[in-house]
This record gives sequence, structure tokens and C-alpha cells, in this order.
Amino acid sequence: MRTPLIAGNWKMNGSLALVEDFGRALAEARLPRGVEVALMVPAPYLAAAVSTLAASEVAVGGQTLNDQPSGAFTGEVSGAMLVDVGARFVLVGHSERRTLFGEDDAAVLARVRAALGVGLIPVLCLGESLEEREAGRTEAVVLGQLAAVFDALSPDERSRLVIAYEPVWAIGTGRTATPEQAQAVHAAIRTRLADYAPALAEGLRVLYGGSMKAANAGELLAQPDIDGGLVGGASLKVDEFLAICQSAG
Ligand code: PEP
Repeated sequence: MRTPLIAGNWKMNGSLALVEDFGRALAEARLPRGVEVALMVPAPYLAAAVSTLAASEVAVGGQTLNDQPSGAFTGEVSGAMLVDVGARFVLVGHSERRTLFGEDDAAVLARVRAALGVGLIPVLCLGESLEEREAGRTEAVVLGQLAAVFDALSPDERSRLVIAYEPVWAIGTGRTATPEQAQAVHAAIRTRLADYAPALAEGLRVLYGGSMKAANAGELLAQPDIDGGLVGGASLKVDEFLAICQSAG
């Protein structure tokens, strides 16, 4: 039985005041039992989020990390720094990092390794563009991104990831994959995971991301291979985010 995970990705949004709003609301909210909740906040707010959310059981994560442990990399954040401030998760390979910051499969693998090396849980994001979907290449692209990381990891390392399937055409567009479209790709991911080891396919969580909101979360999360959500825009509104968490219960 996989524990559902609802992870908010604030991207480059939010403020200390919003961290405090979430802290208050989540401490009072009755989060559904058996659902794990995490918030990936901008790096400057991580420490505040960890202390503000301490009263709830909500974990905190980073949105990216550098693959090096330290050094002359102005502006970058290392995995050890994320751990130092209390982060448990880190997003790796988000499509915005891949397209806007040029992170290719090799860079994604290096960051996954850096995260695992310091005990962070990498949330590995995979997804096809609209052009790739329309060319019938969805599975080839997504499974290729998966293989670029998983082929290089040991069995133990593979078991420590979370995967997020995020069709690029659904991120921030208001256009959500239908439950059937999402389930089909999640099932393909799980079948591929079973090639590594049946227990890996059974145990690894595969989240859906792409314009998930309270109104569509229930039907997406009801799919057998969707184990939670990676939520962007809707994670900036506390009521909306809480409603999505409730749908996972
Ligand atoms: C995301 O940033 O990972 C995401 C899924 O964004 P949105 O929910 O806004 O589409």
C-alpha cells in the first residue's frame, strides 16, 4: 500500500506572510490520516517554513539543488544546505528547470545523486511537451527520461525516489490531463519500474502534476496508479490546497 503524497510547488511565488498563513491553517486543519503532505517553497523561505509547519505534520522541500556539495557556484543551493534547514524533499528535473535552465538528463541524474547522497528524497519530474504528445511520442519521452536516471542507480537508490509525471502542456496552463490520459502514462511508468524489480513498481509513488486543483483532484487521485499530486498554482491558496489534500484521503 503506497502512502499518497500531496506536494505543493510554490515556484518563485509566495512570501513570509504566506508561509505564516499556511502554518496557521495547516496546524488547525484536520489533514486526512495516511496522507503525506509537503510544501516545496523558495529557498529563502525554507527555514521559516520548517519552523512554522513544525506543529503540523507537513514536510518541507526545496525546488532544486546543485549537484556539487559546495564551492564557487554563486546563487546555487546544495543538498547539504537543504538538509541543514530541515528540508526532506527536493524537486529534480521539473520541466521549468529543464527548459528554462537547460538541465538535461545528465544534469538531472547528477542532481538526483546529490540529493540521495545527503538523504533527501528526490521528486523526479518527467513529462512530454504538447508537440511530443501530438507526435505520439509520450511514452518514449517519459520512459526515456525515467531510464536516464534509473538505469544509472543502484536498486537501493531507486527505491528512495518519488516520481512525478507532469505533462508539460498541462503545467500552469489550466489544461489538465484527463484521468484516463494520466492513468495510461502512470501505468506505463509502473510497468517500466517492474522491469527493474516488481517490488519497486509496487512501492514507488508516482504523482500526477499539471493544473491539479480541488475540482479535478478527486478523479485524478482515484486512478489506480496515481499516488498523489504535485500541485503548482493551487498550492498558493491554502483552502484550495487543503481541499486537494482531503481528496487524497
Ligand atoms: C508544477 O509546477 O509542478 C505544476 C504542476 O504546476 P501547476 O499545478 O500550476 O500546473
